[in-house]
Amino acid sequence: MTINLKITNPKVEFLPRRELEKLQLKKLRYMLNLAYHTSPYYHRVFKKHGLKPSDIQGFKDLTKIPITKREELMNSPKDFILQPRKEQLTKILPKKKLISLLVKKAVNKKKAEVEVLKEFYPVRVTFTSGRSGNPVPVFYTHYDLDLFSDIAGRGAIISGSKTGMVGLNLFPRVIDHLAGFQAVFAFQSIFAIPVSISMMTERSIRAAEALEVQGIAGIPSYIMYWFRRALEMGVKLPKIQVLFVAGERVSKGWREKLMKYAEELGAEDLKIREGYGLTEAKHAMLECELDSGFHTFPDIAIWEVVDEKTFEPVGEGERGAILFTHIDYRGTIFLRYLTGDIAEGGITHEKCPYCGRTVPRIHRPIGRMMDYLRELHITKVKGTTVNLNAITDVIEENGNVKDYQIVIAKEDPSDPYSRDVLIVRIECHSQDEYEKTAREIVEAVRSVSEVTPIVKHVEGLSEMFVSDIKAHRVVDERPVEA
Ligand SMILES: [Zn+2]
Repeated sequence: MTINLKITNPKVEFLPRRELEKLQLKKLRYMLNLAYHTSPYYHRVFKKHGLKPSDIQGFKDLTKIPITKREELMNSPKDFILQPRKEQLTKILPKKKLISLLVKKAVNKKKAEVEVLKEFYPVRVTFTSGRSGNPVPVFYTHYDLDLFSDIAGRGAIISGSKTGMVGLNLFPRVIDHLAGFQAVFAFQSIFAIPVSISMMTERSIRAAEALEVQGIAGIPSYIMYWFRRALEMGVKLPKIQVLFVAGERVSKGWREKLMKYAEELGAEDLKIREGYGLTEAKHAMLECELDSGFHTFPDIAIWEVVDEKTFEPVGEGERGAILFTHIDYRGTIFLRYLTGDIAEGGITHEKCPYCGRTVPRIHRPIGRMMDYLRELHITKVKGTTVNLNAITDVIEENGNVKDYQIVIAKEDPSDPYSRDVLIVRIECHSQDEYEKTAREIVEAVRSVSEVTPIVKHVEGLSEMFVSDIKAHRVVDERPVEA
């Protein structure tokens, strides 16, 4: 069966750079006008800075718009919703749309009203995952849901899904969490059959077997657990072709383990494609190939990579903090929102060498800004700078490690001035080889960090991660310095 869908090959993803930027600017100007008039938050910001939408004419003027930080969203999430009053519609709607609405209104008043409501009235919400503080709502209107469906389908195609594929979603919380929400929309938008049986591992394995699933979306550590359970149950899943993973960094070691398990399940040539997104952006982006970079959707957002201290743009492919500005979407929208993430490989604008798309691409690895969320990748242990990504890499490369967790703590928890300790909790495949594995991990961690870890064996460690939407693989138990 061949289905020729508009979403499979949208023109916008292949436009020459100049045309693409022209389109983005047009949409940006419209969005700025909307935000200025109808977003309580941005109306205040523009007024406070004496800024008018017309002050932003080109990409270089983007820096005039102040950065939006997460705290501001947490303080007043509803102020980020576009909420036009009736009398404002003539000011904010494009002329063509306004005339069509007026004509409709003359014929059927109710119908015209419903059309406006569909564009602006929030009907769906997703929540930030609450890594820091309380979950924060981000709202979608009917207009957004149509757009989201299109974007999700396009992402699926970019990352190697095919129409007719049977896709299994293993992200939890399909209704109110971005990853699961997008995975299900992605599969259904390309006429794939979405299956979603969150968190009931054995049942989802049996369903996957019966339906002969081809694509699986989920958090890497959960897919790893799920694969192991499937092997223990003696299930074969030979048709799996592609994994769509997000929510955790996938190291080389982790990738190889996933491939090995897939092979044992009977699947050959498994592709693993990572996604990057955040609830606030209202979408995730995908890679077309390993290391192709995350393909942005230029018709709904402008992505920037900037210096993390000065917020000035950095050069092509240079490391920096990731920002985005919505240029389409209604409901909750953001201008120059600071994601708190760092793109080590920056952003590039040349044509993708793999798929030929001309969209800007954001390059891995993705880290976190230290002073932003105090999430850990580079930290100090015993006064020595330690790269936790390097440590997780060497642990994941160890073949006997079934699962692990890194804990940074104080030698004496009641004394904040006692020495730091780095504890590596592990669960092993082969319990008999635990002593040997522990020694190997001590050596490997020392070789990349100059810190000698304490290795502890924890039975059932992998189960602990299953119940949590974002497994806390690295935990800092040290008191926060004032
Ligand atoms: Zn590509």
